Amino acid sequence: MNRFYDDVFGKKLVVCWRRVAKYLLVAALGSTAIAQQPVDAGPRDQHIESALKQVSSSRVKESIDKLVSFQTRSTLSAQDPASIAAGHGIGAAREWIKSEFESYSKDCGGCLEVKTDTFTDGPADRIPKPTEITNVYAILKGTDPDSAKRIVLVTGHYDSRNSDTLDTTGVAPGANDDGSGTAVSLECARVISRLTFPGTIVFLTVAGEEQGLNGSRHFAQMAKTGGWNIEAVLNNDIVGGDSNPQQDARVVRVFSEGVPIVASDTDLRLIRNLGGESDSVSRELARYVAEVARTYDGDVQPMLVFRLDRYLRGGDHSAFNREGYAAVRFTEFREDYNHQHQYVRTENGVEYGDLPKFVDFDYVAAVVGLNAATLASLASAPAPPANVHLLTKQLQNDSTLTWDASPGAADYDLLWRATTSPEWDHRQSVGKVTRITLPVSKDNVIFAVAAVDKEGHRSLPVVPVPER
Ligand SMILES: [Zn+2]
Repeated sequence: MNRFYDDVFGKKLVVCWRRVAKYLLVAALGSTAIAQQPVDAGPRDQHIESALKQVSSSRVKESIDKLVSFQTRSTLSAQDPASIAAGHGIGAAREWIKSEFESYSKDCGGCLEVKTDTFTDGPADRIPKPTEITNVYAILKGTDPDSAKRIVLVTGHYDSRNSDTLDTTGVAPGANDDGSGTAVSLECARVISRLTFPGTIVFLTVAGEEQGLNGSRHFAQMAKTGGWNIEAVLNNDIVGGDSNPQQDARVVRVFSEGVPIVASDTDLRLIRNLGGESDSVSRELARYVAEVARTYDGDVQPMLVFRLDRYLRGGDHSAFNREGYAAVRFTEFREDYNHQHQYVRTENGVEYGDLPKFVDFDYVAAVVGLNAATLASLASAPAPPANVHLLTKQLQNDSTLTWDASPGAADYDLLWRATTSPEWDHRQSVGKVTRITLPVSKDNVIFAVAAVDKEGHRSLPVVPVPER
């Protein structure tokens, strides 16, 4: 076969296979009266866009430099009045974070309620004696009495550590881990508090992460016990964009659990039978973040990682997962372990320590933008539809879904994807209805329903449970 023939034959074969593939796809989905369209970016909200423009990398830098100035923010470090006055230790960091939230609140006519959640933990593995731990948070209460019960939350841990988790006095700058995540919560609060939303947003900074997620565990349990309806938790931990040669400053990783840790035996049986391994509420939140990134098209794009966290590591989002909440973790694309959990030193020409000079403040600002856009979109949207069911009473190739009306919804979107697709392939507006039948076989795809308001704000999608 000469080269020319080979090329022509190869091309023909490609064209032919494309046709076959298209045919197979149509056959797989069934001929449908509803037009299929790839999932698109949502409409932009001008208010959200204008708030995103206020995100400032110099404000982020100021916050991280200030946090580093406390020398150590070890959860076990000083928090007595003299140390606070001297600007040393975790107590001083806590008071400064509180004063920052309060100053943002002053700028928006008292729109933020600044609170602390203090408790005593230990003795435990990494807490040698009973220690007071304080989480600091600010609440931007929703304007609609019903929607205000729905909460979206952004968090970072303000405690730090060096090579020794029990070192209470040694320098532990924690610029990236997790001064960066703390700066995300602060900067989100500063720019978002200029707007109002029907839903409530909580800006949280926790302590105790490095001792064993103590702060987030206490906060998540408090929320669960108090019946808080938290729809989404965005945990930012190590989002400093460390300036190592392999870093990709256009990418932030978003980790999410697959099979929920709280799944019951019945849940697990359903997940196993129906292929639900990639449809936890946290994973739907991760997909939502990706969709928001397409809508607002910032300087950083999420790379969804379908696992709870990195190897050998953990984070505050898992404390919320344990209470059944949707929670994901944002982390820079490539970490430099010389710049985390290390004494500040130089050894054989290698610099160790978590110092501000390794942080890319523009990168952190871009991560703030993605978080702020996600929080604002969710707080603007109607509640996700409740009681979403897929009827499976008899063998049918059509699929019928039903759900309860969501307050504030003007429309509903039906989403579906091939069982092998990481993200939603199709999004179809179906109008203000609570039941839809379509000629797409439930055996071949995964469905979800989202509520949409009249401006186009989309809720988190909800995957149906089968109803017999
Ligand atoms: Zn951390």
